[in-house]
Amino acid sequence: MHIMKPIAQALAASSATAVLLLATAANAQTVYTGDIIQGKQVISQLDVKDLEPGKKHHFFFQGVQMGSGQHWYLPVVVAKGAKPGKRILLISGVHGDELSPVDAVQRVMAQLDPAKMSGTVLAVYDVSRPAMEGTTRKWPAAQQGGTLIDLNRVWPGNEDGNSAPARHAGLVFNRLLKPNADYALDNHTAGTGGDFTAFIFAKMDQPEIRAMAELFPIEQIKNDPGYAGTLETALVKAGIPTLTTELGGPRSFDRRIVPMFVEGTLNVLKHHGVIEGSIGRTAAVADTFIGNAFSPVRATHGGFLELKVDLPDTVVPGQQVAIQRNSFGEIVAEYHSEVTGQVSWLHRDAMIEPGRLVMEILYYNPDPACEPEGCPSEAGDYIE
Ligand SMILES: [Zn+2]
Repeated sequence: MHIMKPIAQALAASSATAVLLLATAANAQTVYTGDIIQGKQVISQLDVKDLEPGKKHHFFFQGVQMGSGQHWYLPVVVAKGAKPGKRILLISGVHGDELSPVDAVQRVMAQLDPAKMSGTVLAVYDVSRPAMEGTTRKWPAAQQGGTLIDLNRVWPGNEDGNSAPARHAGLVFNRLLKPNADYALDNHTAGTGGDFTAFIFAKMDQPEIRAMAELFPIEQIKNDPGYAGTLETALVKAGIPTLTTELGGPRSFDRRIVPMFVEGTLNVLKHHGVIEGSIGRTAAVADTFIGNAFSPVRATHGGFLELKVDLPDTVVPGQQVAIQRNSFGEIVAEYHSEVTGQVSWLHRDAMIEPGRLVMEILYYNPDPACEPEGCPSEAGDYIE
């Protein structure tokens, strides 16, 4: 009997361990696939609680499989503070032609010393990895002879969905982003062919979101209810206050605008107590223009644009903002502002098709329908 007792205890202990392992597997835990890519461990699920404090950690997150059976992998960097605190998520690459966010997030991460931090900063790059590979906005999916999918219209995704991008979004949202964020910045620029000011879309009726937006020394903020399917909208619905930032134009690093967002992001980290230091320049210091509506100027003809204003010019009603010529050089259209506001977004490509946006002018619309959430932007323009 005296022999049996320790065995019984050992059995009880091992089954308790097994139960514990099963129970924790159902919760968010960091899952290592066992693969190493370019010296980085591959994970298929992350819980920053599992990581050693006071250090930076580098991983590849295993996204969806391609038709070849291989996976898309996303670079992930975690600065895990020595002390506990808020968890801030910095995202880039939801659109593959928007590059300044990569530079801005890398510059923020380079400034962090986890030994002096309270909380965690999670940087995720190349979220739409195949779009990044082509420097294109949309994810090229193989089905039906090839199709292009805007990853910023499918969030929160669906791990059991009927397309690879939807499944990818589901994996990234459920296993990487949502379980590890108290606040988030989803960083974008204008898409190819367009150009933006230093701009933020924010749900300004939500105090925690407003507080973050006003910490950026940028040019413009739009109070905006958000589009369905954007990462910002999905994260906010999950209870994570989030901004969509626009760091100017696509495809290159904007040396004027990136520093504004680095400073603003560091302000957000200070605001939430993750890093120490005094708050830098803010929207109040930068005299940021805040509006709640866009006045779209749309091409009525095909032809070539001569812009008469630039970013972020102030315009008044009736002011000519662009003229358009045909291939003979004849003027086919003149465009005017309908509002007093500031130019936010421009069509930089000289040629334009009818119906497309020449520009968006940010202004304040006193219509009660535009408060407190802001007037929705028209869907389908893909400016963000
Ligand atoms: Zn974008």
